[in-house]
Amino acid sequence: MKNKLITKVALIGGGPACATASIQLIRAGIDIVLVSKEIGGTIKNANLVENLIGYPEGVVGKDFARSFQLQLVKAGVPTILEEVLTVEQVSNGFKINTAETEIISEYLIIGTGSTPKKLDVEGEKEAFLNGKLFYEIYNAKQFTEKKDIGIIGSGDVAYDYALNLQNIANKISIICRTDKTSSLPILQKRVNDVINIVILKNHVIKNLVPQDDKIILDVDENGEPKTLTKDLILVAIGRKPNYAFLSEGIISEYNNPKIDSKLYFIGDINKNNFRQVSIAMGDGMKVAMETVKKITEKEGYHGASRKVW
Ligand SMILES: Cc1cc2nc3c(=O)[nH]c(=O)nc-3n(C[C@H](O)[C@H](O)[C@H](O)COP(=O)(O)OP(=O)(O)OC[C@H]3O[C@@H](n4cnc5c(N)ncnc54)[C@H](O)[C@@H]3O)c2cc1C
Repeated sequence: MKNKLITKVALIGGGPACATASIQLIRAGIDIVLVSKEIGGTIKNANLVENLIGYPEGVVGKDFARSFQLQLVKAGVPTILEEVLTVEQVSNGFKINTAETEIISEYLIIGTGSTPKKLDVEGEKEAFLNGKLFYEIYNAKQFTEKKDIGIIGSGDVAYDYALNLQNIANKISIICRTDKTSSLPILQKRVNDVINIVILKNHVIKNLVPQDDKIILDVDENGEPKTLTKDLILVAIGRKPNYAFLSEGIISEYNNPKIDSKLYFIGDINKNNFRQVSIAMGDGMKVAMETVKKITEKEGYHGASRKVW
């Protein structure tokens, strides 16, 4: 039988957006539950975060994630580490289902971030299932030692991944579709200074073939077919909002937000958002404060103990 829980505010997501919102809500004495697959989120991929105020030397993404994980524990944020499978609107608010738990909340804050875009080529799924292709570097890093790595993409994330592996992998190729990069100039300069990173321009991936302990990439280079052989590839061609698990009603509100809603979307899940930690944290703080205001001023609510049945 499922665990059942009623709460005033439920938050879905364990990245900087929901971490910030939940700490602020707890400080205001609001009854909350944070549900997430894990704590840390996408920033665990970052080689060095240099645009966060308070870290003059920058901070490694994983270390930053660990620090707010500790902060959630210290603040006493009730956390359920489970994947949310469905979310729907019900008469008294929202119903959130994981495999083991059902939560009913009056307010719902969703900060489930983004998911990596796929190449959409033959062999991609097989390569992923064989452990030859990864989208998130924090899952891949342990397999990259002394290996020949291909990174598909030409933006900040592709360049950041290459820098992250420079002292671990033997050789790193950044494989770009065109002769242009959208990466920050500072990352381009750093990549150009590293001898084991090469940039392959005008390489369009046609298909992937996992073969023994290698992966073969069939590529079109300026109209000419070509084959690349790598030990492992990372795909970094962009990300899209992560809301596939939400019901139609919730997605409809995501597309057409209502003015007096009790449903919020924060951080990278937002459309056309600039995807940055400080923006996600700002979103989280703003929505937490709006929620506290609504709850305390309009409803005269000042905290309640959670009901479990
Ligand atoms: C390589 C790389 C480098 C970056 N470098 C920087 C940088 O230097 N500076 C900067 O400001 N930003 C950087 N970013 C961007 C930054 O990571 C994001 O903007 C930030 O993490 C967004 O926070 P978020 O809380 O909105 O979402 P996320 O961090 O993506 O968190 C989403 C959370 O939701 C959870 N989740 C998702 N689906 C479900 C589900 N169905 N059920 C339960 N939980 C779920 C996830 O497990 C995760 O905990 C970088 C990103 C990448 C990929």
